[in-house]
Amino acid sequence: KWNKIEHRNHSRDELYEMEVTFNEMIDQLKTNYEKQEDFVSNASHELKTPIQIVKSYAQLMERRGMDNPELLQESIQAIDSEADRMKKLVEQLLALAKNKKNVVHKEVEFHQLVEHSIVTFKQAYGREIEFHKNIESIYVMGSADQLEQIIYILIDNALKYSKEKIVVSLFTYNGEVIFSVQDFGNGISEEEQERIFERFYRVDKARSRETGGTGLGLSIALTIAEEHNGKLTVESTEGEGSTFTLVLPILKKKSQPTE
Ligand code: ADP
Repeated sequence: KWNKIEHRNHSRDELYEMEVTFNEMIDQLKTNYEKQEDFVSNASHELKTPIQIVKSYAQLMERRGMDNPELLQESIQAIDSEADRMKKLVEQLLALAKNKKNVVHKEVEFHQLVEHSIVTFKQAYGREIEFHKNIESIYVMGSADQLEQIIYILIDNALKYSKEKIVVSLFTYNGEVIFSVQDFGNGISEEEQERIFERFYRVDKARSRETGGTGLGLSIALTIAEEHNGKLTVESTEGEGSTFTLVLPILKKKSQPTE
């Protein structure tokens, strides 16, 4: 008799468990579907805006541009910068859509990527970038293009959202590479820190737009970090600045000779 009851109870538990799992799965699918829908609608909206701006400048040029060289100049510049924006947006959308199965992971000299990016940014922006390191060469497993993209996004943001010098550090600790980018800008409030890694999220839409931002950079950086078994985090104090840190597993390293 007891056996029978126990047996029945057991199957009822199992049924209940299955129901819970099934409901969780449906919820997950629903959330994924809603996220996809949001993504598509955000992406279309973000693309529509520059297209509309280009169109209105083109019309303005047609109507009043012939005898107004200043207006012509302004319109051409606006069209050019909106086209750049669209180009960046499309490139970023493609980066997000990239199927991770098609990304080949190889040995990558991470230190070299960082140094190369710093030189490029210094030349392009003429801003002060301080660089600290405790290694000479460091290898990680991954895609050089994608890792370069993270470095680029973090340095670009630090320069965009602050006016003073920025500090880039590259250290190894406990079998991990710690790459961080620190700025002394306005910082990010605690509530915002949780949201900035979301796709299309921007703390200040107007400011981000002015600086050519799309709200996709950090979400791309986070996706890439996770695909490299890494972590991307932020520490920030309002009014003082922010530090973004990428942690990756080390493949092999060569230590900095002690002087
Ligand atoms: P965006 O293209 O707008 O820069 P991101 O995804 O790179 O998009 O960043 C999302 C938002 O996070 C930005 O719009 C900005 O408000 C905020 N943010 C990112 N980096 C910094 C930083 N270093 N200092 C202050 N705010 C930042």
